[in-house]
Amino acid sequence: MPRVGVLALQGDVREHVSALEHLGVTAVTVRTPEQLEGLDGLVMPGGESTTIAHLLVTSGLRPLLQEKLDEGFKVFGTCAGLIMLSHDILDGRKDQWSFDKLAVGVRRNGYGRQIASFESPVEVKGLGVVAGVFIRAPKIVSYANEVEVLATLNHGDGEHPVLVRQGNVWGCSFHPELTSDLRVHQLFTDSL
Ligand code: GLN
Repeated sequence: MPRVGVLALQGDVREHVSALEHLGVTAVTVRTPEQLEGLDGLVMPGGESTTIAHLLVTSGLRPLLQEKLDEGFKVFGTCAGLIMLSHDILDGRKDQWSFDKLAVGVRRNGYGRQIASFESPVEVKGLGVVAGVFIRAPKIVSYANEVEVLATLNHGDGEHPVLVRQGNVWGCSFHPELTSDLRVHQLFTDSL
């Protein structure tokens, strides 16, 4: 049975743990560098990317996680987690850093502020339609050829990717953990 970590510094950790457990995967919360050992993959949840970035530094997790990601560790970032993996962060804090593992540019709060949060059906390649919950979601505004686009959404200003993959790295701008539909998580766990 795969062991999947859920980065548990801030954000909707419990919902990811529950989704993974429903899929029959062993879910392990990760708050320290030691807890990163022996995992087959990691989920980086949504929350507040600036806070998560800060806690990654103070917890000492940043260097080890960067090293593991550079070696091909499998990771699934949702919302703030997607921001933490992206190459370019638009509308970030001046000092905002990322692991730079997905060749995409994301605009923080690109779909609007909290009050503009919305739900929309999203057609995922090979899966069919899933419910997309977008909460202060980052918008993928650019991406390189090596990025595989698994789903897009047109929220009034053209199609933008909302689920992408680049090798071992997956990123999603919505929150699949907030619905009972586990198929997006399963795409990731099936790849482990
Ligand atoms: N806008 C948030 C950020 O910049 C992400 C929102 C979310 O994860 N729901 O971190």
